[in-house]
Amino acid sequence: MATAIITGSARGIGAAIALRLAKDGFDIALNDVSEAMFEGNDIVEQIRALGVQCEVFICDVSNHDSVKETVSEIKERFKTIDVLVNNAGITRDGLLARMSEEQYDTVIAVNQKSVFNMTKFAGAVMMRQRSGRIINLSSVAGLYGNPGQMNYSASKAAIIGMTKTVAKELGSRGITCNAVAPGFIKTPMTDKLTDAQREAMLNLIAMKRYGTVDEIAGVVSFLASEDASYVTGQVIEISGGLSM
Ligand code: NAP
Repeated sequence: MATAIITGSARGIGAAIALRLAKDGFDIALNDVSEAMFEGNDIVEQIRALGVQCEVFICDVSNHDSVKETVSEIKERFKTIDVLVNNAGITRDGLLARMSEEQYDTVIAVNQKSVFNMTKFAGAVMMRQRSGRIINLSSVAGLYGNPGQMNYSASKAAIIGMTKTVAKELGSRGITCNAVAPGFIKTPMTDKLTDAQREAMLNLIAMKRYGTVDEIAGVVSFLASEDASYVTGQVIEISGGLSM
């Protein structure tokens, strides 16, 4: 059985991706930063009910040493690492003039350095296997920028460069690396936006609606599938036509 790791998967887009990959037949390594994220949450039971294995690995993916240890535990437990979805992400929004150094550094560490950490250690396992799929969660903020999100858009733009670099470095080992760039998807992360921010976004979306977590999970499922075996280094925007 093939194994998929999804970071930040206790809820939101990560949980939807985990459930979808379980339906596709992958054993699932869930991750989040604290046990508390899984309390009152039946994602593990939902995945196991599909007949695949599912374990939770608590780890702050911005911490290099913790990631090294966690990836090694996952390899020990599941034997192979076939898909890595770098999904964990946070926002600490604020206009540039008021953004603190701490707000900037925290977002870069969790959103961007985590991709380095996870890809380095899970990628090493994939290189030995000579196969693997890496899928990174970027954002339309990384493609086009967004006022109040200098930290977040920097991290999400960096992920695009990292995706292309990994595609070039690891392609000859049978490993693909792609990014998805969601637009406005209804999750706890976007629930924090004000009504005015939400309304302004809606006006810019060709489809005049927000996306769902399942619409992100479907594209990730495709990128993890055999059908995407010759797709690498790409960024797929999933935004209902936000950028046109
Ligand atoms: P979410 O609901 O906030 O879920 C993100 C998960 O990651 C949370 O459970 C969070 O835990 C966890 N996490 C945070 N820091 C972590 C760390 N250091 N180590 C491990 N896990 C950590 O967010 P989402 O909306 O599903 O977003 C998922 C991804 O999609 C993110 O990368 C986001 O940037 C990207 N994205 C989302 C949208 C959107 O519209 N929602 C649009 C574009 C891109 P805590 O709650 O404890 O922080």
